[in-house]
Amino acid sequence: MHFLPDLATAPDTLASGVRSQFPVLAQRIHGAALAYLDNAATTQVPLPVLAAMRNFEVHDRANIHRGVHALSQRATDAFEQARSALKRFVGAGAGHELVFTSGTTEALNLVAHGLSAAAAGSAFLQPGDEIIVSGLEHHANLVPWQQAVRRSGAALRVLLPDAQGRLHPEDLVRLLTPRTRVFALTACANATGERPPFEALLALAAQAGALTVLDAAQAMAHAVPNLSALACDFMAFSGHKMHGPMGTGALVGRLAALERLAPLRYGGDMVDWVSYTDAGFAALPSRLEGGTPHVAGAVGMAAAAAFIDAVGRSGIDAHVAALRAHAAAGLAAIDDITVLSPWAAESAIVSFVARGVHPHDIGTLLDEQGIAVRTGHHCAQPLLDHLGLGPTTRASFALYNTHDEVERLVAGVARALEVLQ
Ligand code: PMP
Repeated sequence: MHFLPDLATAPDTLASGVRSQFPVLAQRIHGAALAYLDNAATTQVPLPVLAAMRNFEVHDRANIHRGVHALSQRATDAFEQARSALKRFVGAGAGHELVFTSGTTEALNLVAHGLSAAAAGSAFLQPGDEIIVSGLEHHANLVPWQQAVRRSGAALRVLLPDAQGRLHPEDLVRLLTPRTRVFALTACANATGERPPFEALLALAAQAGALTVLDAAQAMAHAVPNLSALACDFMAFSGHKMHGPMGTGALVGRLAALERLAPLRYGGDMVDWVSYTDAGFAALPSRLEGGTPHVAGAVGMAAAAAFIDAVGRSGIDAHVAALRAHAAAGLAAIDDITVLSPWAAESAIVSFVARGVHPHDIGTLLDEQGIAVRTGHHCAQPLLDHLGLGPTTRASFALYNTHDEVERLVAGVARALEVLQ
C-alpha cells in the first residue's frame, strides 16, 4: 500500500543515477536494505570525492606554503584551487574570502571568539553591546555567543520563534537597537527542519548596522545560498554535510568583516614576522589558518562541490523537496504523529513527535528494518524546550534517497507506533 500514491510513484531518476557512486548505501542492515535517512547529521561521500582525496595523498602530499620543492608547490596549488572552487560554489565575489576550518562549529567559534577577543587593538564587542541569536539555533551557533558575552561584557538577546517554530521579521525589528553589533541565524533549523526567511532577516540586521552570521551547515548539499545575493558578513559550513570529508569546513565572508576577527589559533603559517616578544600577523586568509590544514580535506570538499554541480543543483533541490513533501504528508497522516514545520518546502529535514512514544524506541525499531534516522534533541535543546516538545525523531534526505525509502520510513513508523502504543 502506498501512503501517497502520487508522491510514492514520483520519479527517482536522479537518485538511481547517482546511487552507484555511494557504495556505502549498497548494504543490508539487520537483513534489510539500508535506507540512510540521517543526512542532516552526516551525508555520504561519493567515489569521485574519495578519488580526489586519494589522488592528493598518493601523488601530491606535502606541507603547503613553506616549501620551494615541486610537491609542496603542487600541494599549495591544490589547496588554493580548492579554496577558489568553494568560493565559486557559494557565490563569493572579489570582496569575499574563505578560511578553511574543521567544520561549522570551528567556523562559528572563530567568529564569536574573534569578535570578542582582542588581537591587535581592542575587541570588536564591548560592554553594553548587544548580540542577537535566533532561537532556532544548533548549540554551535549559541554556546560560542554565550562565551563571547562573558568575554566582552556584551548582552545576548534571543529572537524567539512563535509556538510553531517560525521566526518573524517584525520580532527582529523590535529587538534591533543601535547597540546591536551581531545577528546570528541558521539557514535551516536542524532540529525542526524550519527554513527561516534568512534573506530578509539578515537584510534587516545589516540595515541596522549589525554584522550578520549565517550558519549554512544544513544548506550545502541542496538549496545552497548565494553569498553575493545576501546581506551576510560570515557564513559557516561543514564538508561532511555536503558529501565531503569529515573534520572539514569553512568560514566564508566579507573581507572587511573577516579583518575584524582575532585569530583562534596562533602559531606557524599565520604570521608575518616574529620576535621573542611579539609577532605581526599575515594577511587573510592565512592569518586565520594557523597550523597545518587538512589539505586533502579541502581537496575533498572542492570535489564534493563539483559533484553537486555535475549532478545539477536544481535537480537535487527538486528531488529533495519532493522526498520531504512525501515524508511530511505520509507521516502527518498517521494518528498521533505531529510533523514539525510541515510547510518547510525547501527543507530536507522532517522532524516529528509521536504522542506517548519515545523517539528512541521509534529509532530502534526503524533500525531493525534497516532505516537510519536520528532521535533526540539534535543539539538544539533550548528550541525544543521552547516549543514544549522534548526529543524528536528526525529523517533527513539527500540526492541518493528514493521515494521507496520514504514509503518504508512511513510504513516503519506506523508499525512502530502499533507496537509501542
Ligand atoms: N549547525 C547546524 C545547523 C548543524 O546541523 C550542525 C551539525 N549537526 C552544526 C552546526 C555543527 O556542524 P559540525 O558538527 O560539522 O561542526
